[in-house]
Amino acid sequence: MTCEDISGLINSYVENDLSEETALRIEAHLLTCRDCAWETETLRIVHRRLLSERHETIASDAFRARVLIRLRTDNEHLKTTEEGERVRYQLPMPF
Ligand SMILES: [Zn+2]
Repeated sequence: MTCEDISGLINSYVENDLSEETALRIEAHLLTCRDCAWETETLRIVHRRLLSERHETIASDAFRARVLIRLRTDNEHLKTTEEGERVRYQLPMPF
């Protein structure tokens, strides 16, 4: 495999989207070519970074859902309490 072959396949390689045979051939090249190895490592870091950002977004959606459920639950509970209590816990703006 040449460096040119590698640069066309490197994205798929980092995303584990290649056949095992192709991946092994790329790895063999990476062991002998510092440039391609460096490029692969850089892409891998970017890829990991993107994955973790996606993960954070999922986490904050889940957190938001939990907060909304909690707020609704709290408001349900506050309906049975005194008028003054409800005012104290009212949200400044609607969700
Ligand atoms: Zn190379």
